[in-house]
Amino acid sequence: MLKFGQHVIQQSCVFWESKLSFAFVNIKPVLPGHVLVSPKRIVPSFTNLSPEENVDLFKGAQQLASLLKTHYKTESLTLVVQDGVDAGQSVHHVHIHLMPRQAGDFANNDDIYGEIERVDSTTSEIRSEMEMESEAMIYKELVKEMGITS
Ligand code: AMP
Repeated sequence: MLKFGQHVIQQSCVFWESKLSFAFVNIKPVLPGHVLVSPKRIVPSFTNLSPEENVDLFKGAQQLASLLKTHYKTESLTLVVQDGVDAGQSVHHVHIHLMPRQAGDFANNDDIYGEIERVDSTTSEIRSEMEMESEAMIYKELVKEMGITS
């Protein structure tokens, strides 16, 4: 069990861990494969990451980006860090959004940013724990198969 800001993330929803970072499935994904990578320590802002946390987080995000590209058979991925309230950050614990993209997934490519904001403000699209666990299990297997290191 790990903390994500004020939220508790069940171990069953975590699919990758290193010494300083972890990755978990999203409770309200804007697209299939929308996952989050965070430092284990509750760090509110990107500028508060230690150099070690920064390296560990982005190394993990890069490897997991490859995993998502392979699994979702795409060469395209949107990475987002909303840093601060005025940038749209709703959980005050640094996280990188990784979102695999497909041709035509939005009418206009950049509509994804509006969708992130829209989904953030709804409570109606929360997924069941069972659905999230099943997704995390698939990625856990891939982490092993692809030899993704911590
Ligand atoms: P942001 O608006 O950039 O702070 O993004 C917060 C992200 O955290 C959104 O994608 C939410 O769907 C996601 N989120 C919030 N609570 C949880 C949770 N308990 N488990 C997984 N993802 C969450």
